[in-house]
Amino acid sequence: MLIMLRGLQRISIYNILRWRAAPLVLTNPNRIRIDISSNSQYLKRLYSSVNNNQRNSVITDRPKLNIDLNSETIKLVFDDVSVVQCPFVWLRDNCHCSNCYELSSGQKQNLLENMNLDIHPLNATIKDQSVIVNWSDEHVSEYPLSWLRDVKFPAATDPEDERRYWGSEMTKSKVSTFSFNEIMSDESSLHSWLLSLHTDGINIVNDLGNDDKNLVRLANMVTHPRTTCHGVDFGIKPNTLDPTNLGYTGNRLGLHTDLVYYSFVPGVLVLHCITMSEDGGLSEFADGFKVAYDLQKEDPETFDVLSRVPLAYLDDGVHGMSKTNYILMDQKPIIRLKENGEIKQISLGYPHLNSRMSVGIEDVKKVYKAMKTFYTALYKEENLVSFKLHPGEAVCIDNTRILHGRSKFTIPHGCQTPRHVQGIYIDWDEIYSRMRGIRPIHVY
Ligand SMILES: [Zn+2]
Repeated sequence: MLIMLRGLQRISIYNILRWRAAPLVLTNPNRIRIDISSNSQYLKRLYSSVNNNQRNSVITDRPKLNIDLNSETIKLVFDDVSVVQCPFVWLRDNCHCSNCYELSSGQKQNLLENMNLDIHPLNATIKDQSVIVNWSDEHVSEYPLSWLRDVKFPAATDPEDERRYWGSEMTKSKVSTFSFNEIMSDESSLHSWLLSLHTDGINIVNDLGNDDKNLVRLANMVTHPRTTCHGVDFGIKPNTLDPTNLGYTGNRLGLHTDLVYYSFVPGVLVLHCITMSEDGGLSEFADGFKVAYDLQKEDPETFDVLSRVPLAYLDDGVHGMSKTNYILMDQKPIIRLKENGEIKQISLGYPHLNSRMSVGIEDVKKVYKAMKTFYTALYKEENLVSFKLHPGEAVCIDNTRILHGRSKFTIPHGCQTPRHVQGIYIDWDEIYSRMRGIRPIHVY
């Protein structure tokens, strides 16, 4: 696709694109050729840029500009009140001219070894909608005022970071439910589904019918599924002769998170019910974040063990895709914390606990006690949610937060598939990336 722009339109689009990395070719003074045929990302960047009102708004007030050598910042005062401080080294580093910034990839192309930490402006002026800086390294940079006005240290991260913790009040009718057909045809439905998954850690997608490939279609709406040792997607059905996983029996499955033996655990698990057993086979869930935060208040010593001591996990088998033997191993604490002390991840996969423990002999009983305390807390009446999935429904769970299990069910004699659930994983990076693609936020 080729767009030919002239006159005023040329200037405004050019101003957008030079900051958003589209390949431009100046053919003659009145024409810019924008080649977006080679990569649809250029078009997306253009759109997200156009949608971003703040970035493209015209600054009517002329800000006051001051070079402060003491704090090594350029200060800009907008509307006589809002002060924006731009450190010299950062401002020079964020020059988006074609020498400093590779336009088509949107990546910095200076080498870090050439960075001058003591760089300073010789002068800086405001011209039209830009600040022009003459640097001590003889480079000249131009920064749009609309971009500078949003500068903040530390910069804001994604705004939608709220979680809603829950206990047994989260009955099936209270779990947010989304339609497969709507998600497949409408990006705002897709966004709502993913946002709800972030907020609650659990939701339901219905209208999936009995086509066991619909989960792959659903995951492809995000980007792609996460392939694991179980393959791209996997059927969980009882195999009475040779079960390779407890999931493939009719036994009760205790609450757990999946694939704890991976260092990079899959973010989201989606389980699509194709057929359901008449007796038993109830799905069980508990909000690991809620239980862990409660435990932190009630029993800080146990919380400390759970968040500090790593458990070793192991799984081996035949890889679902390559058919080669695999041996997956990792060590992680049940509760992982962020740098600020908030809970980042819950991992508990007791069936895969490695008999070769990662703790000293003096800690063995203490670790078992902490693990059992956490597990018991998950099953407290106020924490446990259980309901039956019906054919055509999929339950979606945050595998870094929610623990899931299943009650026992009977396998009638001669019946091969009394209960068939199809599963797939999707990673959080892909989900958040897709959400940002649908609702652009200020990330550059
Ligand atoms: Zn530059």
